Amino acid sequence: MTNVVRKEQFILPEGVIYLDGNSLGPMPKSVPARLANVMNEEWAQMLIGGWNKAGWMAQPSEVGNSVGRLVGAAAGSVVMGDTLSVKVYQALAAGIKMRPERRVILSDTGNFPSDLYMAEGLVGLLGQGYELRTVAPEEVAKSITDDIAVVMLTQVDYRSGRVHDMPAMTKLAHDAGAVMVWDLAHSAGAIPVDLAASNCEFAVGCTYKYLNGGPGAPAFIYVRPDLADTAEPALSGWLGHANPFDFDLHYTPGKGIERMRVGTPPVLQMAALEEAMKVWDGVDMADVRQASIALQEQFIEEVEQAVPELELASPRDSSTRGSQVSFRFEHGYAAMQAVIERGVVGDFRAPDIMRFGFTPLYLDSGDVSAAVAVIKDVMTNALWDDPKYKVRSRVT
Ligand SMILES: *Cc1c(COP(=O)(O)O)cnc(C)c1O
Repeated sequence: MTNVVRKEQFILPEGVIYLDGNSLGPMPKSVPARLANVMNEEWAQMLIGGWNKAGWMAQPSEVGNSVGRLVGAAAGSVVMGDTLSVKVYQALAAGIKMRPERRVILSDTGNFPSDLYMAEGLVGLLGQGYELRTVAPEEVAKSITDDIAVVMLTQVDYRSGRVHDMPAMTKLAHDAGAVMVWDLAHSAGAIPVDLAASNCEFAVGCTYKYLNGGPGAPAFIYVRPDLADTAEPALSGWLGHANPFDFDLHYTPGKGIERMRVGTPPVLQMAALEEAMKVWDGVDMADVRQASIALQEQFIEEVEQAVPELELASPRDSSTRGSQVSFRFEHGYAAMQAVIERGVVGDFRAPDIMRFGFTPLYLDSGDVSAAVAVIKDVMTNALWDDPKYKVRSRVT
């Protein structure tokens, strides 16, 4: 296995062991200079000319290709823009349009709420008997019936890290005549994904988690190449138009994946992401996966030995777990705040999940042991049992 650790390419605050790259990746070292350059040399000097001269308009597709490489998408099948919630809506709407005789979106109760909320908004708008049906994650396979228009699943569960079998679920959806939409929020940059081989119609994901694009980094959408010229984008903004600068009064979708663009791209965020993606040059996701599993197995073993009262909330079988490990603890919120104050940053997900992300690009086994020592101290000495750790912040 090739070593994937490239800690020297990231800025990590002194004394911090960062186990939250699954929520917001740290900043690659080269990003500030790149942003300064975009601001000082491009925005300031080129002004509106930057759209052509600095290539701002082409960036959503170019960056889409570098993200696409990590998720097994062919060049030209991924484009960046908007936020993940918006891309979920777009994929669902396009999928629904492909099955006009059907009315049901199927998802599961382990999905990230925003995906479900976006589906609720869409079926509410459509009316006419459209419905979002949610079942337990283990029930999805047997719930893919022939009234389902779109199956929408998040591959890696944000709380437990449980992984859906992408090829198998996609095949079940297709056998039932449904369109398959995958959310790769906790997959891209975390585990190997082969979108092309899965044959799914759509996939979406964000880039501020494992891809380190920074807070507010643009999301991505993948459309299977054979559908890219017919999928209806639903969010018919001018930059998805075939000829935006014709200022035509009517919408004509653009060629291929470009039609999934909506409005003006966030140029500064896109530049930060483009720079952050360079960290992945030459990285093979199979190596990342192997390193991630090794770190997770070490963490589980050491935590269970040091703190038996923490209950594993993630699948024990590493082949069905993403790149995070979660433990259940009644006072998980307070415990996580106490752990964070001691330099080990994970996060908390209601009602009782302490979540730790493993990102081999900037974590090694020494970090894992040091993190476990802090968790052990907090737990065995009940350091969490302090009123100051029980006040909930806006973001947990
Ligand atoms: C992180 C995440 C989101 C967040 O959506 P944004 O629009 O980027 O805020 C949505 N869905 C899933 C599955 C996520 O993990």
